[in-house]
Amino acid sequence: MIRSGRHYLDALRDGREVWLDGERVKDVTSHPAFRNTAASIAGLYDLARDSAHSSVLTSDGVHRAYVVPRTQADLVARRAAYKVWAEASYGFLGRTPDYMASGAAGFAALPGLFTTDSFDGADNVLAYHRRLAENDLYCAFTITNPRSGTGSEDLLVKAVAERDDGIVVSGAKTIGSGAVFSDEVIVGTIEPLAPDAVDQALCFSVRTDTPGLKLVSRTSYEAQARSTFDNPLSSRFDENDALLVCEDVFVPWERVLTYRNVAATAAMWWQTPAYLNFVHQAATRFWTKLEFLTGLAILVTRSNGTHELPAVTQAVGRLLGMVAQAKAFVLAAEADHEPVNGGAGGVMPGREISYAQRIMAGELYPRAVQEAKGLLGGSVFQLPASGDDLLHPELGPVVERYLRAPGTPAKDRVKLLKLAWDALGSEFAARHEQYERFYHGAPHVYLTMQTWAGGAENSERLAQACLDGYDLGGGVGT
Ligand SMILES: Cc1cc2nc3c(=O)[nH]c(=O)nc-3n(C[C@H](O)[C@H](O)[C@H](O)COP(=O)(O)OP(=O)(O)OC[C@H]3O[C@@H](n4cnc5c(N)ncnc54)[C@H](O)[C@@H]3O)c2cc1C
Repeated sequence: MIRSGRHYLDALRDGREVWLDGERVKDVTSHPAFRNTAASIAGLYDLARDSAHSSVLTSDGVHRAYVVPRTQADLVARRAAYKVWAEASYGFLGRTPDYMASGAAGFAALPGLFTTDSFDGADNVLAYHRRLAENDLYCAFTITNPRSGTGSEDLLVKAVAERDDGIVVSGAKTIGSGAVFSDEVIVGTIEPLAPDAVDQALCFSVRTDTPGLKLVSRTSYEAQARSTFDNPLSSRFDENDALLVCEDVFVPWERVLTYRNVAATAAMWWQTPAYLNFVHQAATRFWTKLEFLTGLAILVTRSNGTHELPAVTQAVGRLLGMVAQAKAFVLAAEADHEPVNGGAGGVMPGREISYAQRIMAGELYPRAVQEAKGLLGGSVFQLPASGDDLLHPELGPVVERYLRAPGTPAKDRVKLLKLAWDALGSEFAARHEQYERFYHGAPHVYLTMQTWAGGAENSERLAQACLDGYDLGGGVGT
């Protein structure tokens, strides 16, 4: 089934326990902190039913992100689907439903990994993939522990009771992006656990309205927005991040994917294609976001009348070079695809290039933001506090007169600069900078993965070949 946006919004009115500012939110689809973003996500579902996009976004009645790719062409087709949704939020909704859909397809490509001595989750993982795909569900994920390091074990999610029909879990996970807008949340751990941490070594997926499951929202940028004119991105694409707390949450066995197994709880992310599929989605969104920021910077330089200055043209060239880098990583990871080891014909984006994308993107994004901000100058601060100034009968003509630029009426200029600041300088923008650096794990994790992913042998071989090519007493040139 491909859901409509209306169907998605109706499902969110389920009594889920969302907290914000000391208030229990009754309905995220109508609350001023969440409603516009919920509508933006609903818009994604509608796009998949729109005849102009459905052939790109869907395949055999499911979203394309659920398809287990078997060829490079499948990866290319999946990326085309990612791109349509990424463009709908200009790259600012990171955890759209296709994100965890791609993870589920990754698990389904290697179900045997979930069969362990302590628990057999293979059928459950296939059922999980099927449930999400057939019902077109939005699954968020929380796989980060509240505080890393020893001494925080009591905070981590673990089973506090076992029943014939399932387990009862308590504990917390942090930064559930999109969780308040989800149908289900997958709860697991991506960071390495100590070999004896079997109590915390589990992964399961629960409905977001499960009794005992609380979502504690961070500050809502959507709620802080004055209007869409004043805060065009944060008013509509604030995907939210929430602390997930489980207080005696019952999880039926059929929703448990790994249980009391340290190795499988980590390997489900790293040894199936799940993580690489996440990067494929995220790298496509990242490329889209850089295209957008670069486009904004170009429009601002035109409005400022600086676009033909050599230094400005070069700055734009640097930004366009960054867009091309972001694009190149997506295409290269597809071209460098690998068979899923033991995965009956499935393929995944190349590991070496996918891990390198994480390093590149985390470092490139802050530079791209600085480059674009350098082109804005101070004009972004000399803006009316809100669009109401432009509408005021007495003040409007004054603003119109003094804030226009040659060839650009004041309203268009204010509109452009407010969009630029929302994207590049606001608190919402600062969250995005942190997002691009950390959303897939901290640098010490993905730098280590890069070292393991390969490439080292070739580098060593080449250096060794040079060393082997000469010796003491050989003179010059031999
Ligand atoms: C905006 C945003 C959205 C996110 N969304 C989600 C989400 O939806 N779901 C989810 O599960 N997670 C999400 N995350 C969490 C993300 O996965 C974590 O922030 C990331 O894994 C880092 O973990 P941490 O925050 O505990 O930082 P830490 O692990 O404490 O790291 C902080 C700093 O210390 C360094 N450091 C820590 N330990 C070591 C070490 N042993 N060796 C060397 N350096 C070290 C790190 O490299 C980093 O620079 C999100 C994060 C952000 C910022």
